[in-house]
Amino acid sequence: TIGMVALDATGKLAAGTSTNGLTHKIPGRVGDSPIPGAGSYAGSAGGAAATGDGDIMMRFLPSYQAHESMRLGKSPQEATSDAIARIRAAFPEFSGAVIALNRNGDYAAACHNIYNNEFHYMAQSEGDQNPKEEIASCS
Ligand code: ASP
Repeated sequence: TIGMVALDATGKLAAGTSTNGLTHKIPGRVGDSPIPGAGSYAGSAGGAAATGDGDIMMRFLPSYQAHESMRLGKSPQEATSDAIARIRAAFPEFSGAVIALNRNGDYAAACHNIYNNEFHYMAQSEGDQNPKEEIASCS
């Protein structure tokens, strides 16, 4: 899944995903990526996007959860960590990650059970020549 969250110069926020789903998925499977709140979500406080075991993750609406936490004052790091922790508590074997961006332009990611226990993602700000790679350590 490619998940993106964007904030423009006027403060407008957007989030979205593009995915080919899971390997060996059953015909007709929709997965989490196109479900608002599961695959991605943007609202007044920021935006978030998720990747991983969609059939598990979608039950927790992790993108909505991360947004709601930011709306209530949590940082993107706290919000994504909390979204991942809620899933991990019920499904310790799941694999996935959540990214979040708030309306100040702060961003972070949290992950669980990703290869090498690291989740790599890209971030770019206005004026940056190139996107930069960020690495989140998984919990
Ligand atoms: N979340 C996607 C799905 O379950 C897979 C992925 O993130 O790569 O369809």
